[in-house]
Amino acid sequence: MENVVKNFNLIKQEIEDKKNVKLVAVTKTFPISHILPVINEGHTHFGENKVQEAMEKWTSIKQDFPKINLHLIGKLQTNKVKFVLPLFDYIHSLDNFKLANKIAEEQIKKNFKPKIFIQVNIGEEAQKGGIEINDLENFYKRCIEDFKLNIIGLMCIPPFDKDSKTYFVKMRELSENLNLKDISMGMSDDYMEAIKQGSTFIRVGSKIFGARG
Ligand SMILES: *Cc1c(COP(=O)(O)O)cnc(C)c1O
Repeated sequence: MENVVKNFNLIKQEIEDKKNVKLVAVTKTFPISHILPVINEGHTHFGENKVQEAMEKWTSIKQDFPKINLHLIGKLQTNKVKFVLPLFDYIHSLDNFKLANKIAEEQIKKNFKPKIFIQVNIGEEAQKGGIEINDLENFYKRCIEDFKLNIIGLMCIPPFDKDSKTYFVKMRELSENLNLKDISMGMSDDYMEAIKQGSTFIRVGSKIFGARG
């Protein structure tokens, strides 16, 4: 078994002086027994990409550890929004109006406002989720004015076969244009570069928990 605590603490040390950077430990596919050592280290930010899996894994553990913040980093279907609040404190994958509208309804119903990132299709890839760069400003404005969402920043998953740096630089520009201070970018292979370019939430899975099956 991977030494998850050792892996985790190495990354914590690496980012020790980056006070405004939060490490989201991505736990998808791993059972809670594999994650518990990191929870016991006092870590409070965890990410999952599937709603169903997260409900099964985190509903009771979140009651035992109320300081835990859960981050939804994967695609969110409109019909799952009712399960997402209030289980998830952060949503990183808002990328369409139908979803924005549904979250708007649900956050009133539940009296719970999640912190939300707008996912940007930064590599302009046909198959990938995310708002197109040209539509971003309009989408952002409607999210805050019409839907009253708590948009805290932008998120991206750069093309996997390319150097991430140029995409991270572009993300920072877009964030500054909208006056947003948080950016969710950087994964196991490129989180240090992401931090250099202004990331405030890095999403790291395999470098902590090992390869996924
Ligand atoms: C799985 C996943 C991660 C973590 O990826 P690693 O390469 O294992 O660090 C980060 N972000 C998203 C959106 C993911 O789905």
